[in-house]
Amino acid sequence: MSTTLHPSFQPMFDIVLARNPGEPEFHQAVYEVMHSLAPLAEERPEYAQWSILQRVCEPERQIIFRVPWVTDAGQVEINRGFRVEFNSALGPYKGGLRFHPSVNLSIIKFLGFEQVFKNSLTGMPIGGGKGGSDFDPKGRSDNEVMRFCQSFMTELYRHLGEYTDVPAGDIGVGAREIGYLFGQYKRITNRYESGVLTGKGVSWGGSRARTEATGYGTVHFAEAMLGVHGEDFDDRTVVVSGSGNVAIYAVEKAQALGAKVIAMSDSSGYVVDETGIDLEVLKDVKEIHRGRVADYADAVGPRARVITSGSIWDVPCDIALPCATQNELDDTQAGTLVGNGVRLVAEGANMPCTPGAVSVLRDAGVLFAPGKASNAGGVATSALEMQQNASRDAWDFETTAGRLQEIMYDIHDTCLATAEEFGSPGDYVVGANLAGYIKVADAMVAMGVI
Ligand code: NAP
Repeated sequence: MSTTLHPSFQPMFDIVLARNPGEPEFHQAVYEVMHSLAPLAEERPEYAQWSILQRVCEPERQIIFRVPWVTDAGQVEINRGFRVEFNSALGPYKGGLRFHPSVNLSIIKFLGFEQVFKNSLTGMPIGGGKGGSDFDPKGRSDNEVMRFCQSFMTELYRHLGEYTDVPAGDIGVGAREIGYLFGQYKRITNRYESGVLTGKGVSWGGSRARTEATGYGTVHFAEAMLGVHGEDFDDRTVVVSGSGNVAIYAVEKAQALGAKVIAMSDSSGYVVDETGIDLEVLKDVKEIHRGRVADYADAVGPRARVITSGSIWDVPCDIALPCATQNELDDTQAGTLVGNGVRLVAEGANMPCTPGAVSVLRDAGVLFAPGKASNAGGVATSALEMQQNASRDAWDFETTAGRLQEIMYDIHDTCLATAEEFGSPGDYVVGANLAGYIKVADAMVAMGVI
């Protein structure tokens, strides 16, 4: 496959580079989408006439703000807050908040850009956005996290609303943070506006199966891919990177389908447990005690070993699920996976595979699921949460998880059919980008120049 852009797109990409200097992750995400859109240059001339691609690459609104807060010791700390409202052609901006020291404008823009097409793929009426802060919740007390969240929301609330912009969680933002953020929004606005944030606690407006949704959805997507070839998860060996929300529930679903998950990681290293990860122990370490993978190994004893050098992708497996962070799997590591006979790689995280890694996997005939399709189950279930909030209803777990499964199979089928239609059969990257983009572009054409 060619690695160059269609000649009519190259000048637009050059403009993106010039207008957004020093934003490598954003450039990477834009290039990947533009690369897939080549067939549209001839087949949809109206998009060029309406400058759709140029407009899609320019966020509708970008908000950057100061977040001052006070530590338990009385020290004033300053962080930077971001919200990039990327595209609202299909509905209110929707996308998570990330609290991690690495957060900067480039990372939020790449995430927001990807979110636009991911949300389109879900078939739900949601636009795309993303936000966060360079605040690091690790090692902070609950009170410090609460004060930070309150300060963050004291600025952000004016930009939000159930018909305007609806954030959720992401790295470093889970149920605890969503609770503090929602509480402050409610206090400032004097409105119990459930639909303004998703990922809420189930007893106060959250959806059942939202916690599980991204991990479960990633495995459902991979299951559908294997199904096309008459294969499944049963007895397959799986490696999952990360050990946060997405990773834990990817493990749970993979195990439920008969797979053996033998390795997981966090930013301090990875743990290998050849007998299969004990999920109850892992949840206790990660969800209750906010511990490290080494604590998992301490808890299960000698059957597990912790490795703090090298890469989790050195561990031989049939199925690899990168569920930690962007660019965590490069071309060399992809080569190692291929050498060890990997059959499928499905992205649970956003853009965890570098472009080089994706090339290596595709050239070797490994089934590859891009994150904007395979991890869309989280945001799809967030839209189900909004639906329940709007109707003052609360569905049971089976109903919600069943809807999630249907949505993931639908996204899979849409990607496959679109790839086929545009001459790249079996290419889920091309299928996901084209299907996601066309829906957004058609809505933008319909709404005129705004
Ligand atoms: P999370 O609960 O905060 O967990 C993140 C996990 O990844 C942690 O185990 C973390 O380890 C690890 N990690 C983060 N940065 C790392 C790095 N630089 N090197 C190695 N490990 C690293 O976050 P999450 O919600 O699971 O999100 C994981 C990924 O899925 C992200 O790319 C996110 O954008 C994507 N995603 C999430 C959702 C969702 O619903 N949550 C939906 C779609 C996509 P430490 O604890 O050591 O930092």
